[in-house]
Amino acid sequence: MKLDVLAIGVHPDDVELGCSGTLIKEVKRGKTVGIVDLTEGELGTRGTVETRYQEAADASKIIGAVARENLQMRDGFFKNDEEHQMKVIQVLRKYQPEIVIANILEDRHPDHGRAGHLVYDACFLSGLKQVKTIDEKGAEQEKWRPKYLLHFIQDRFYEPDVIVDITDAFEQKMASIKAYTTQFFSSSSTEPETYISKPDFLDAIVARARVLGKRIGVQFAEGFLSKKNIGIANLDALVLQET
Ligand SMILES: [Zn+2]
Repeated sequence: MKLDVLAIGVHPDDVELGCSGTLIKEVKRGKTVGIVDLTEGELGTRGTVETRYQEAADASKIIGAVARENLQMRDGFFKNDEEHQMKVIQVLRKYQPEIVIANILEDRHPDHGRAGHLVYDACFLSGLKQVKTIDEKGAEQEKWRPKYLLHFIQDRFYEPDVIVDITDAFEQKMASIKAYTTQFFSSSSTEPETYISKPDFLDAIVARARVLGKRIGVQFAEGFLSKKNIGIANLDALVLQET
């Protein structure tokens, strides 16, 4: 199945936190969007691997993703090495996305930065014919290099290279995050409090979207970094607001 956009996050919920608004907008425009989680988030304090799978499936439905899979790398301890790069290359070649959106290259959680670098390296290597991979049926895969790799901002703030207006997708974005009922604030939860389960964590998500939105004169936005320049086909891509 060929996809227009593939979002890759190291922990189930990273994609929802970082770029679900942009994904929802693409789905609304008729684009095909898929999600790959690198780990099962088994080091998470709250919930279980099973609840995370259910929550990820619920969030996918809200986003409108046509595919979601989990590469079952080790949460906290996976490496950016040949073995892990080959696993990412296999999904890149399987879905042949034009655009990949992945974790940022450095963040509070070391997994985020390591995953960002892993996907960055895999996107390049995937375009090399001599890097051989096989698909799930044992057939050799064609080389594939996504045209763009965008990194979403998650915990620490970095100056974005591009800001996407997500105002009309913002409610759905928050719903996709809240689908992770074991991870974020719920007044009825009896599980231990964590960095992300305090109520102010979700407030900060809203505040971040507002701050980025204000930069481009809209209510809510998501920001992305890109190692390479972003080319636009014409000026219609520009948000026309006085700022
Ligand atoms: Zn994470």
